[in-house]
Amino acid sequence: MIQVRKSILITGGAGFIGSAFMRMYLPVHKDWQFINLDALTYAGDLSKLEDFNLSKNYSFIKGDIRDRKLLETVFEEYNIDMVINFAAESHVDNSINNALVFLDTNIIGTYNLLDVALKFWSNSEKMKEARFIQISTDEVYGSLSNNQNSSTESDNLLPNSPYSASKASSELICRSYYMTFGLPVIITRSSNNFGPYQNKEKLIPKIIFNALNNEPIPIYGDGNNIRDWIYVDDNCEAIMRVLQKGQIGEIYNIGGNNELSNNQIVDTILAKLEKPNELKTYVKDRLGHDNRYSLNSDKLHLLGWNPTVDFEDALGLTIQHYKSNM
Ligand code: NAD
Repeated sequence: MIQVRKSILITGGAGFIGSAFMRMYLPVHKDWQFINLDALTYAGDLSKLEDFNLSKNYSFIKGDIRDRKLLETVFEEYNIDMVINFAAESHVDNSINNALVFLDTNIIGTYNLLDVALKFWSNSEKMKEARFIQISTDEVYGSLSNNQNSSTESDNLLPNSPYSASKASSELICRSYYMTFGLPVIITRSSNNFGPYQNKEKLIPKIIFNALNNEPIPIYGDGNNIRDWIYVDDNCEAIMRVLQKGQIGEIYNIGGNNELSNNQIVDTILAKLEKPNELKTYVKDRLGHDNRYSLNSDKLHLLGWNPTVDFEDALGLTIQHYKSNM
């Protein structure tokens, strides 16, 4: 019997979460062909996937999701069945300094993917089985006060940074492709991820590196901003669950149920590394800094997913990773 492989296009697979997803599922889903399309911006790094260079079910294409012609070729050549769109400009601070590339990649890039997928799947009768997973963020809900309820999927979108506004916009384009054309889109909104191979610009790696190097750890404002932290592997499991069991047209929050202030995160890491509190350095607050994000993930729990990784253990693993990759 000829085995028909499913082809899954992973955009942004050389980034933090996309690469974690492939490290988890390339060895498990040998029956799927994983096509990693990544522009290799400053945030992309293929060494995260070097163990898989010779894997038969893995291909890498250096390419940009804004390049429509390339996307058309990739869909044709690899007969794409599913898309997970991780590719994005992802750092809020950068979006404050230069929003344009965020609008370009996160909105126009997503539109290109949707439109190429629509044309390809409509013509090849794949539409029924196909899936387009858009990876979004809890930041689209905007800022919560400390005693407000956690955000649910039907809450208003109130993004405050150019980054979150670009992600909210890309979600709306996704929604329109589902509502207008029936494209099988599902959106995930996860909270703050942490784990190995995250870019040093992000909070947890930055704290660890600076602490290990005995350098000051910059903390915005008073350090009381709250984020809900999730280990990246838990997020990847949730994304796989949504891909396989999620309802088309729906949105799923993916929260770690683990809210901590920036001060608490810094204190925990300093204690684990036995470094002095004096490394903490309070700096001018980020412009438009959201106070708190918090997710209600009940809808996803109904699909049978729960975060499984203990925060302290995961932080230990993460610290160990950065220690060995200084
Ligand atoms: P990342 O910055 O580590 O990786 C992004 C990847 O996308 C990089 O490999 C980069 O080279 C690639 N890329 C950028 N522009 C591209 C383009 N135009 N064409 C093709 N590839 C391009 O980001 P991440 O932390 O892995 O985040 C992945 C996704 O998850 C993003 O969509 C982000 O918005 C979302 N998200 C991240 C978090 C988090 O905590 N990291 C939380 C919620 C949602």
